[in-house]
Amino acid sequence: MSVRLFNTLSGQQDEVTAADGDVLRMYACGPTVYDFGHIGNFRTFLQVDILRRTLKLTGMKLRHVMNITDVDDKIIRNATAAGIPIGEYTAKYTQAFLEDLASLQIEEPEILSRATEHIPEMTALVEKLAEAGAAYKTEDGSWYFRLAAFPEYGKLSKKDLEGMTDGARVDVDEYEKDSARDFALWKATKPGETSWETPIGPGRPGWHLECSAMAMKYLGESFDLHAGGEDLMFPHHENEIAQSESVTHKPFARHWFHVRFLLVDGRKMSKSEGNFFTLRDLLLKGYRASAIRLALISVPYRHQLNFTFDGLTEATNAIDRLRTFVERLKGATLAAGTTDELQAAAAKAEAEFVAALENDLNTAEARAPIFDLVRTVNAALDTGKVLAGDRERALEVLAKFDAVFAVVADNDAAPTAAALAWAEASGRMELVAPELLARQSITDAEIEGLIAERNNARKQRNFKRSDEIRDELAAKGVMIEDSREGVKWKRK
Ligand code: AMP
Ligand code: ZN
Repeated sequence: MSVRLFNTLSGQQDEVTAADGDVLRMYACGPTVYDFGHIGNFRTFLQVDILRRTLKLTGMKLRHVMNITDVDDKIIRNATAAGIPIGEYTAKYTQAFLEDLASLQIEEPEILSRATEHIPEMTALVEKLAEAGAAYKTEDGSWYFRLAAFPEYGKLSKKDLEGMTDGARVDVDEYEKDSARDFALWKATKPGETSWETPIGPGRPGWHLECSAMAMKYLGESFDLHAGGEDLMFPHHENEIAQSESVTHKPFARHWFHVRFLLVDGRKMSKSEGNFFTLRDLLLKGYRASAIRLALISVPYRHQLNFTFDGLTEATNAIDRLRTFVERLKGATLAAGTTDELQAAAAKAEAEFVAALENDLNTAEARAPIFDLVRTVNAALDTGKVLAGDRERALEVLAKFDAVFAVVADNDAAPTAAALAWAEASGRMELVAPELLARQSITDAEIEGLIAERNNARKQRNFKRSDEIRDELAAKGVMIEDSREGVKWKRK
């Protein structure tokens, strides 16, 4: 198994390999912890998770670093407005981010590195850049990268960078202008702003500098793969390359992986448009974490994802189909042996699943054969043609699917409960959908009790009471199904 991915730098699909033949070293730009992450952010983190899990499925070992940007313009502005130190401000959102990763079954990288814990590495890099003639200090004590010192600037985004004027400067963390400017490496202290006393003077790091310093600290001067959302290609990643390669004269990252943006109903997600969602917003509307995960991963990373509530409902139904199938298969009484047809169907599904992921992480094509297999085995169960060895094989293929997709195993209760607890604690109960509250208002024991009562009512041919109970359960999101093995129930 070997994974081929589009490489922004080479402009073609390249095989992902570990240069040292052992551990794949990758860096993914992490969140700026100034607010709760939104589903666009999580689309990118989820696609990096799909990459991680796929590489692990191929047997690769990983050393994956993700930064937490815990100092930047927005953080300083918001912490100042709240009248608290930036550390206190960012601790809350860092914690929330890690919780959200867990809710979405996103594996934590091997190394999480906070920018504010790496100031010495950053100032040392500025000193090296100055020695190499690629950094200069301005009168106010800030440091800038001299673009003219790096003629290869623009090689990643392949932008036609008009108006590269020597000495034109930009000092904000985020900018989108096509014209390249000397950018801030280190910002001199401004009154009232957090700053550090360092050998290059007092101040704080620029955003771009963080990633170069931390990536090289943990992964070396040259490493295998660098990931992030498509908006980071320019200027952030160009700047990372310029800062690093001007000192090392070695390729910074060999492979660049960029995830395209998420749109909502075809439009950019923005607070003013009212189409801006955090993970908590969706959980409190009553959607399951697994459905949110599936909806955000099912469109391959190189395509824009148009998020819709219909898409979430489709994902919910798809997960139900998978979970119901696994339950049915596990519960079936089967004779020993295998059938050629089902063994072949399982092998085909497995091969197609793997091949689709190997082909630039095509998640849409990877899930299709799994649903085909479910259909085939379900049909065979209906006609009693499944043998125990077929069950084992089908479950094995589903487990492989879930090692990457992570939606079949039911881990949905905890994220929803945590979101509700958060809404209660922060006085945001208006975000909670009434259906969700109704659903949470019944315990498993109460459900079992009502089902027992319904069974009695049916025995006594009291169908009115039996129907009432079914309706009462349905209002609380509990679906019941009468089968030969008795009554089964599940929560919506
Ligand atoms: P930030 O916290 O703004 O630094 O962003 C964290 C990650 O989310 C970065 O990799 C961004 O490129 C990515 N990102 C931001 N907005 C979106 C979006 N709408 N769709 C996909 N990824 C996004
Ligand atoms: Zn970065």
